[in-house]
Amino acid sequence: MTELYDLHSHSNASDGALSPTELVLRAQGQGVTALALTDHDTTAGLQEARLAAEQAGIRFIAGIELSASFENHCLHIVGLNIDPQQPDLVQGIAKQQYTRDQRAQKISEKLAKKGIPDAYPILRQVAGNGEITRLHFADFLVAQGRVASQQEAFDRYLSKGKPAYVPTLWASLPECVAWITAAGGVAVLAHPLRYKLSTKWINKALVAFKAAGGQGIEVVTGRASVDDIRLSYLHAAKHDLYASQGSDFHAPGNPYLELGRLAAMPTGAMPVWQLF
Ligand code: AMP
Ligand code: MN
Ligand code: MN
Ligand code: MN
Repeated sequence: MTELYDLHSHSNASDGALSPTELVLRAQGQGVTALALTDHDTTAGLQEARLAAEQAGIRFIAGIELSASFENHCLHIVGLNIDPQQPDLVQGIAKQQYTRDQRAQKISEKLAKKGIPDAYPILRQVAGNGEITRLHFADFLVAQGRVASQQEAFDRYLSKGKPAYVPTLWASLPECVAWITAAGGVAVLAHPLRYKLSTKWINKALVAFKAAGGQGIEVVTGRASVDDIRLSYLHAAKHDLYASQGSDFHAPGNPYLELGRLAAMPTGAMPVWQLF
């Protein structure tokens, strides 16, 4: 049987719409045979997902997506095949969660100044024990009738330079990679083209990432074009990195961004799953 790997996905432990169990069942329904759950700065969904995957008979890879500060940028580092109990990682995640919660309160204050009160207490309830992300704020703004879509919420309020944007100092790139490595995992730079970095800066980031022990880069992501894949693969080849693939699925409803719906990995790429 050929495996279908999807190594980037979200549950309602962060900004996904589905519970870990629902996510696993949907992945199975889409033909995924090996799934990584990679919620933002949390491992809270992993235990439930692992159980569901065992019952569904698909392979489960414990993962996380850490927000990392690099110079003035926020990069996302996916950790794959991690031990969620490893103390360095557990402590690191606790710091990230504190940063996230403080930021959510600040975003809420900024929205209140724009005449949109109470976002934080409402979203704290919505997220439960999970992490509040800007996607929660986007959905909140849609629900309040302030904007028509998530995209409009980012464009008018949440993106860099907009009124409710809060610059955030996340853990550094080397720290995030170190936590993942300490936890026995493989660090992968997520969606390298989404940061809109110049060639000079992406190379700078990848040199720092490798020096810190990073081993992989996402080459095939949901909705990536042939050109995107080629360019990401060139980054992988230049920096001698393993290639990962993952949909970055958050919610049903977008047929172009679905679990397991991924283009083929370029020939010549070293698949990251060789490492686990
Ligand atoms: P955060 O990590 O809290 O800054 O939230 C980032 C999350 O917001 C990402 O993981 C995406 O799920 C979502 N996001 C970011 N930009 C957009 C956008 N332009 N449209 C829709 N969702 C977005
Ligand atoms: Mn997200
Ligand atoms: Mn991301
Ligand atoms: Mn993601």
